[in-house]
Order: sequence, then C-alpha cells, then structure tokens
Amino acid sequence: MKINIFVLLIISTLSLEPYAAECDQIIEGNDALQFNSKAMTVSAGCETITVTLKHTGQLPANIMGHNWVLTKSSDFMPVAQAGGGAGLENDYVPQNDSRVIAYSKIIGGGETTTVSFSTADLSKSESYTFFCSFPGHYAIMQGSLSVID
Ligand code: ZN
Repeated sequence: MKINIFVLLIISTLSLEPYAAECDQIIEGNDALQFNSKAMTVSAGCETITVTLKHTGQLPANIMGHNWVLTKSSDFMPVAQAGGGAGLENDYVPQNDSRVIAYSKIIGGGETTTVSFSTADLSKSESYTFFCSFPGHYAIMQGSLSVID
C-alpha cells in the first residue's frame, strides 16, 4: 500500500511539469505570408528559449524571406519599420538596437533556422510581439508572445 502511494506521488509530480516543451518552440512560415501560429507562450522557468523557424515554402529569401524577431509590443512597430531599411544583409533588423530582444536570420523556402535567448529579461507583466521583419511582412506575420511561470 505504501509503495502504491509512492508511485502515485511520482506520477503526479511528473504530470505537474509542463515546462519542458515550452522551452523549445517551433514555428513555420510559408509562401503565403503566414506564420502557423498567432500566439506563443514561453515559461519563465526556462533559462533559455529556443525558437526554431521553418520556412515551408519554396520561394528564395530575397523574394519571400522570413525571420523571427521578438520585441516588446510597444516597440514592435518602430522596430519593424526600422528593420526594412536595414537590408537583407542585416536580416532586416536594426543593428545594435536594444529594443530587439531576439532575432533569427532571414531564410528562404525549405530552410530552417534557430534563435535562442534568455528569459532573464522577460517579464510576465509585459506584452511581447513576434514578427517577420522582411519589408511588408510584419503587417500580417505577427503574433503575441506571453510569459508564464
Ligand atoms: Zn517574412
């Protein structure tokens, strides 16, 4: 009887650990200017978040490039607009800009890239926006990122 209770405790402890998957996020972009997710949730319990971006389309990066950029929602518009002028060689991201929390390189169809960033500077009370900074894409290719325990 004691053994059975012990086993049950172990099982319930394991099921209370929902964070593992949230440390590694996968998102897809396609040739139709779409991410396959409009909302991402990450856990502050993760020291590092790794986002894998897959471009499931076929068009090359200079035509239909996608990246994954994270800012506070209040910084999203100005950073996205500044990114357009940064050029493909800078992944359409303003360089050395502290408003940019994380960004991946621009990829074309069939390619995959990853970006990792620390959760240390993220706040549960802050609203974050992820987007593609390729010129013109951010209007559609954007979503919210929220931080939970
Ligand atoms: Zn894009």
